[in-house]
Amino acid sequence: MVYTVALIGNPNVGKSVIFNHFVPGARQHVGNWPGKTVEKKEGKCVHRGTELRIVDLPGTYSLTARAVDELVSRNYLVEEHPDVVVHIVDASNIERNLYFTFLLLELEANVVVALNMSDVAAEKGYTIDAKELSKQLGVPVIPTVATANKGLDKLKDEIVHAAKRGNLSAVSSLDYGKATENVIDSVVRVIKKDETLAKYPSRWFAIKLLEKDDDVLEKVKGTQHQRDLRFVVDNAKSVLGDDPEIVLADKRYSLVSKILETSLVKGAKKWTVTDMLDKVFIHKYLGIPVFITLFWAMFRFAYDASAPFMEIIGLVFETLAEAAAGIPNEVLASFVGDGIFGGLGFILTFIPPIFFLFLGISLLEDSGYLARAAFIMDRLMFKLGLHGRSFIPMLLGFGCNVPAMMATRSIEGEKDRLITLLVNPFISCGARLPVYILIAGAFFGAMATAAVWSMYFLGIVVAILLALLLRKTLLKGEPAPFIMELPLYKTPTIRASVTHMWERGVHFLKKAGTYLLAGAVILWFLSTFPWGAEVEMSYTGQIGHLFAPLFAPLGFDWRIVASLVFALLAKEIAVEALGIIYAVEGETAIAGALVSSYNPVVGFTLMAFTLLYIPCVATIGTMKKESGSWKWTIFQIVLTLVVAYVVGLVITGIGAMLGYT
Ligand code: GDP
Ligand code: MG
Repeated sequence: MVYTVALIGNPNVGKSVIFNHFVPGARQHVGNWPGKTVEKKEGKCVHRGTELRIVDLPGTYSLTARAVDELVSRNYLVEEHPDVVVHIVDASNIERNLYFTFLLLELEANVVVALNMSDVAAEKGYTIDAKELSKQLGVPVIPTVATANKGLDKLKDEIVHAAKRGNLSAVSSLDYGKATENVIDSVVRVIKKDETLAKYPSRWFAIKLLEKDDDVLEKVKGTQHQRDLRFVVDNAKSVLGDDPEIVLADKRYSLVSKILETSLVKGAKKWTVTDMLDKVFIHKYLGIPVFITLFWAMFRFAYDASAPFMEIIGLVFETLAEAAAGIPNEVLASFVGDGIFGGLGFILTFIPPIFFLFLGISLLEDSGYLARAAFIMDRLMFKLGLHGRSFIPMLLGFGCNVPAMMATRSIEGEKDRLITLLVNPFISCGARLPVYILIAGAFFGAMATAAVWSMYFLGIVVAILLALLLRKTLLKGEPAPFIMELPLYKTPTIRASVTHMWERGVHFLKKAGTYLLAGAVILWFLSTFPWGAEVEMSYTGQIGHLFAPLFAPLGFDWRIVASLVFALLAKEIAVEALGIIYAVEGETAIAGALVSSYNPVVGFTLMAFTLLYIPCVATIGTMKKESGSWKWTIFQIVLTLVVAYVVGLVITGIGAMLGYT
C-alpha cells in the first residue's frame, strides 16, 4: 500500500526544504500539472517500512478559483483525495497561516500540521503550545525547524500514523457561530441529496457556494437541485449579507484569534536587528530615497567592477577578428572576422556587467532587502489603486521579462494580472544593458552611470503610469487587498549570491551561444550581400531605408532603424548591428562612430526607445501564452511602440529646447 501525501502551504514557509528532506533530489520527478503551466513535483519516500508518495502542491495564500495555482491545489485536494495533507505552517506568521488550515479543514482533508520556523517565532518573542493547538484544531500539530532538521522524523511518524488511521473528520472543530452554521447546514442538506454533487466535501461545497465561487457555481449548473440551491443561498443573505465571502473570512479570523488566545504563549518581545533596520528601510518617507540610492549604488558597482573585464574580452576578440583577416577566401574572412568574432565577440563583452548587475541583485535579495523594495513599491502602487503583488514580477523583469511574466500567475484577478503582464516589458531586462552601456559610454562620459540608471528608473515610472492608465480605462476595477510578509534580514553569503548570479546569468551565456550567434550570422549575411555593395546598399541598408522616414522626427537614420529592426530578435543585437553597419570593431570604435554621427540627445532617445519599444520575440511569445489571447498580445505590441515613440518625441523636444537639433 502506497499512501499519497500532499504538502501544502503559503510561499516561503519551508515547503521546499521539507520536500527535499523527504524526497532527495535524485528521486524527484518534476513536470507540469495536466493542462496547466504550473510546476508539479513529486517523489517516493519510505518511512519505517511504509511507502509514501509525496506531492508538492503550489505555494499559495488561499484556495480560491481566481488564480491558476490555487485552483490546481484545490482541484487536486477535491478530486484526488490524498491520504494525508501536510499543512506546513510558518509559526512566525501564525494568524495568516492558520486561516489556511481552516480552508483545508473545510475541504475535509486529513490534515497534519507542521509548525515550521518555530525558531523564528521564538526570536520574535513567542512560542506556540503545539498540544493545545492540536486539541483546538482536532488534528496533529508537530513543531519543526526544517533547516535544522528538527522535528522532521516525528512529522513523518505522524504522517504514517494519520495515513493508516484515516480521516479524523476534524470538521467538527470548525464552528463559525450558530446562525452561520445553520445557514451552512441548510445548503449541505440540499447538496447531500443531489446525485452529482454528493461526491464533493459537502461543507466545503456549501461554503464555496455561499461565497459565490465561480468554479463551484459552474459545477451546480444543470444539476437536479439547482433551483433549491439558489433558493437556500438567496435566503442566506439575511445572515451573511451582500458579501458573504468577507463575512466568512471574518468568521475564520475570529476563530483563529480565539484559538490563539489559549495556544499562543507570548514572551518578552525581543527588539531584533530586523525591527531596527526596518525602521529605516520601510519607513514611510525614508523608504523611497533609500531604495533609489541602493539601486544607484548597485549600478555604479556593476559598471565600475566590470570595466577591466570588458576591456580584456574586447581586446581578445579584436585580435581574433584581425587574425581572421588573414584567411585567404574573402567571403570566409568576412564571415569569420565580422560575422562571428566581430558580432558575437562584441556581445560577449557585455557579459561582465550583466553578471555584476545580477550579483548586485542577488546580494540585495539574499540580504532580505529586495523583499522590502517590493514592499515599498507595492505599498505605493496599492495607494495608487494598483494591485499590491505586482512588483515581484517587475523585479524579476530586471533579469528577464520571460520568467517575470510567468510569475504573474500568483496574482488573483484576471484584470490585475493582465495589467501586470501588459506593463512588464517596460521593466529593463539584462538584454538592454549592453545597449545602454555602449551609448552612455559614448555620449555621457562621467555621467554614464547616471544615464544607465535613469533608464531603469524610466522603465519603472512608465510601467506604473501605464498601469494606472489601464486601470482607469480599459481594465477598470478595484485591486485585491494587499498583505505581504517580510523575511528576516540576513548577512548574505558570497557563495549563495554567486550561485544566484550564475543561475540568472547563465541564461545569457546560453543565449549568446545559440540565438545571438544565429542573429550575428543572419545580420552579417544581410549586411554583406549583395557581395561587394556598401552596407548602405546591402539588404540591411535597404530595410533601414524603408522605415527610416517614420523615425526621422526622433533623429534616427537608416542605420539606427536597421539595428532596431534586428533588435526585435533580442535587444542586445542592436549593439551587434551597429558594429556591423559601421563596419568597425570593438566598443571604443563603435562609440567613436556614434559620437561623430549623432548628438547626445539622439543617443539618449535611442536608449529610451530600446527600453520601451516592442518587446523581443521571446517576450511576445510569453505574452501570448500567459494572456491566452492574440488580442492582448497585439495590443501590447502597439502600446509599447506608441509609448516608445511618444517618449522619444518628448526627449527630442526637450533636447531641442536645450539647443540640440
Ligand atoms: P517554500 O517557498 O515554502 O518552498 O520555502 P523554502 O523551503 O524555499 O524556504 C524559504 C526560506 O526559509 C529558505 O531560506 C529556508 O532556508 C528557510 N527556512 C525553511 N525552514 C526554516 C525553519 O524552520 N527555520 C528557519 N529559520 N528558516 C527556515
Ligand atoms: Mg518552494
